[in-house]
Amino acid sequence: MENETVYDIVIIGGGPIGLACALEAKKVGLNYVILEKGALVNSLYNYPQNMTFFSTSERLEIGGVPFVSNNPKPTRPEALEYYRRVAISGGLNIHLFEEVLTVEKKNGRFAVTTTKQIFTAKNIIIATGFYDIPYLLNVPGENLAKVKHYYKDPHYYAFQKVVTVGAANSAIDVALETWRKGAEVTMVVKGDKISDRVKYWVKPDIDNRIAEGSIKAYFNSTVAEIREKEVDINTPEGVVTIENDWVLAMTGYQPNMKFLRDVGIALSDDAVLCPAINEETQETNVPGVYLAGVICGGMNTHRLFIENSRVHAESIVKNIVEKNRGK
Ligand SMILES: Cc1cc2nc3c(=O)[nH]c(=O)nc-3n(C[C@H](O)[C@H](O)[C@H](O)COP(=O)(O)OP(=O)(O)OC[C@H]3O[C@@H](n4cnc5c(N)ncnc54)[C@H](O)[C@@H]3O)c2cc1C
Repeated sequence: MENETVYDIVIIGGGPIGLACALEAKKVGLNYVILEKGALVNSLYNYPQNMTFFSTSERLEIGGVPFVSNNPKPTRPEALEYYRRVAISGGLNIHLFEEVLTVEKKNGRFAVTTTKQIFTAKNIIIATGFYDIPYLLNVPGENLAKVKHYYKDPHYYAFQKVVTVGAANSAIDVALETWRKGAEVTMVVKGDKISDRVKYWVKPDIDNRIAEGSIKAYFNSTVAEIREKEVDINTPEGVVTIENDWVLAMTGYQPNMKFLRDVGIALSDDAVLCPAINEETQETNVPGVYLAGVICGGMNTHRLFIENSRVHAESIVKNIVEKNRGK
C-alpha cells in the first residue's frame, strides 16, 4: 500500500532523539512522520525495570519541555512518562509498531518501505539507536530459554541460581538486584575487575558484596557451555561447573549497521564502523539522509547518548530549512 503524502522528513526511530527531531520539524512547519518498530521510546521501555539514569532530568529534556523529577537521577518509569507526555502534548505524528525495512532513492525522492506501507519523503532522519542487537556469547546452549540478553524485573529470579555475564552497569545492576531478591548470584567477568564505567554510587556496593562473599565472582573468566541445569565456566584455574537456573548475559548491544550500509551510508573501515556524517549538519554521504542520536557513534555506543546527541535535531532541521530556502 502506498501512502500518498510526500513528507519533508520521514524519521526512522521513535526514541528520545527521534522525538526531538520531530519537535524541531514541527516547530518550523515541516511535514514529517515518525516510524517506530516497537512501543514509544522502545529502547527505554526494554531497559531494566528499576533502572536509574546516570543523567539528571534536565539533561534528558527535549524540545525545551521541562522534565520534572523529585529524584536526583530520574527512573525509567519517569522517563517513559516524560517522553509519552512530550509526544502527546506536542501532538507528534508517530506510527508505532511499524518497522522500516528499506529506504531507496527513486525519482529524486526516498521510498521508505515498512512492514505496513510505502512512504515517500524528501529527507530521511535515521535515529535507530543501538539496543536491538545483543552481543552473543556464541557458546553451546546460548539458545536455551534460560539465557537472557534483556533483563526486566528482579523478582522473577528470586531464590534462583543466577549467572550474570558482564562487568558494566547493566550486569552490576542485575547482580545486585537479583541477589537482594534472594537469588544465588555468580558473576562471570572477562576482565580482571569490575568496569570503571560503573556508576560511582553503585561501585562500592558490588565491591563489598564480592569481598564479603555474598556474590561469587569469577574474574578473567568466560562462559564455556550452558546446559539445562548447569554452566561450565572457563577460569584461570580451569573449567568450573556450577548448578544454574538462569544466565543473564548483559554483554552489551550493537547498532544495526547493515541497515545503514543498505541505505548507502559509508562506514569507516575499522572496528568502529563510524558512519560518514557532516558533524555540522548531521547529513551523511547520501544527500538528504541524516543520522541522529547514539547511532552516529557507530559501534562505539558509549560516545553519544541522550545528553549529548539531543542537539542533532536542531542541526538537521536547520540544514533542511536552509536547503529549502536555497531552492
Ligand atoms: C541502561 C542504560 C542507561 C542509560 N542511561 C543514560 C543516561 O543516564 N543518560 C543518557 O543520556 N543516556 C543514557 N543511556 C543511553 C541512551 O538511552 C541512549 O543513548 C538513547 O536511548 C539514545 O536515543 P536514540 O533515540 O538515539 O536511540 P533509541 O532510544 O535506541 O531509539 C531508537 C528507536 O529506533 C527504533 N528502531 C530501530 N530500528 C528501527 C526500524 N528499522 N524501523 C523503525 N524503528 C526502528 C527502536 O525501536 C528505538 O525505539 C542509557 C542506556 C542504557 C542501556
